[in-house]
Amino acid sequence: MTNNNTYKYDVNSLKAEEFINHEEIIDTLGYADSNKDNLELVDAILDKAELLKGLTHREASVLLACEDKSRINRMFELAQKIKKDFYGNRIVMFAPLYLSNYCINGCVYCPYHLKNKHICRKKLTQEEIKAEVIALQDMGHKRLAIEAGEDPVNNPIEYILDSIKTIYSIKHKNGAIRRVNVNIAATTVENYRKLKDAGIGTYILFQETYHKESYEKLHPTGPKHDYAYHTEAMDRAMDGGIDDVGLGVLFGLELYRYELAGLLMHAEHLEAVHGVGPHTISVPRIKRADDIDPSAFDNGINDDIFAKICALIRISVPYTGMIISTRESQSVREKVLNLGVSQISGASRTSVGGYAEPETEEENSSQFDVSDNRTLDEVVNWLMRMGFIPSFCTACYREGRTGDRFMALCKSKQIQNCCHPNALLTLKEYLMDYASEDTKKLGEELISREINNIPNPKAKDVCINKLDLISEGQRDFRF
Ligand code: SAM
Repeated sequence: MTNNNTYKYDVNSLKAEEFINHEEIIDTLGYADSNKDNLELVDAILDKAELLKGLTHREASVLLACEDKSRINRMFELAQKIKKDFYGNRIVMFAPLYLSNYCINGCVYCPYHLKNKHICRKKLTQEEIKAEVIALQDMGHKRLAIEAGEDPVNNPIEYILDSIKTIYSIKHKNGAIRRVNVNIAATTVENYRKLKDAGIGTYILFQETYHKESYEKLHPTGPKHDYAYHTEAMDRAMDGGIDDVGLGVLFGLELYRYELAGLLMHAEHLEAVHGVGPHTISVPRIKRADDIDPSAFDNGINDDIFAKICALIRISVPYTGMIISTRESQSVREKVLNLGVSQISGASRTSVGGYAEPETEEENSSQFDVSDNRTLDEVVNWLMRMGFIPSFCTACYREGRTGDRFMALCKSKQIQNCCHPNALLTLKEYLMDYASEDTKKLGEELISREINNIPNPKAKDVCINKLDLISEGQRDFRF
């Protein structure tokens, strides 16, 4: 869209500053401000959201600006409904695995920045990765997100590829890592193709902030300083054949209203150009870390705004999974789980090598403090007590249901005949191999109840049969 020739906003453009157009965002925020009390418009937007077809960045921005209590309640109710209709009560579990904290960037919010001379720098060898993966498998994890600083000498793409190979190769007892998602710095199409060939799940890259001027100040040095290269990374990833990409904003760096508009514009751009929107959206907030004090950043958001943002993401992009990490406390996680979160991490360590050997204070290598320190068994138990099904499922991408094929599954509401039994099968594996007695008892009861919620009778029979086979010792079934 070109607006009176004053600025160029083009959702189809491949240029960062045209698909995330600053003037369009400013105009959107002005439109949202002037319509925040226009309850007729707010109601019309909510009616549209009710059709489960999503909202534009302009529409979502009006809802974000609206302060009317009953309308905000309707936003929350709608988010809960969409979450239930599309995702049911399953929550997918994962853990981050930090490979290396060597980094040549200067990100002012991250303790891995180059000038930090007192954080302990570590890079795992393939043997050390093996020990980490065994520790993660022994907890029951099946899905990881690997994390690394940007450093072409210490963490070249070959190191990342070798590490992925190592992770997939380890089969300890009944354990296996069946999906490796990757959160590494923006790179080339060629490198994305190599990651695709290595069998990664989602490529995750947080934008940090969509505000170009702030972005450049917050990333004063290093390759990450280049806003366009960073913002266009998902297009290159998709050109390299990766069709599941994960977006995110680091809330606290810039005005949240600016960020939500930017985030949704990015999702609209991916859908317009590649025919498929983001697979996931993450909503991290800045945390205390080695030499980082979150209060030094002016744009922190409180828990209520945070919940509203989660609800609006849910209703704006109903087919996109939403991820909450252990940056958030148990109580915040509890609140947003109902509002559309579909994936959470559990028992996370943000230090390099922290699973096999917890670190002492002096050798601290961690990226930020976590607020939820519970074990995976405690998290699984807690989820079930709230009526959720913890799922260790990794079937979709292993069955080739990525990108638009996953979206089609979601849109046709076949999730209940596919993801639901997969969740039960992988939970059963967890109960057999890793759960405490109490968690096991709860889980078995939950599975007996939830088996009746598989609509297709044939799928239900197959699932019952596979559950029996898991009891007898077999593993790794999937729909
Ligand atoms: N180096 C890669 C990059 O540049 O995208 C990998 C990302 S880093 C390992 C994962 C994410 O952690 C970052 O994208 C950032 O949003 C987040 N992060 C950094 N410092 C943080 C802090 N102090 N609190 C919370 N999250 C932080």
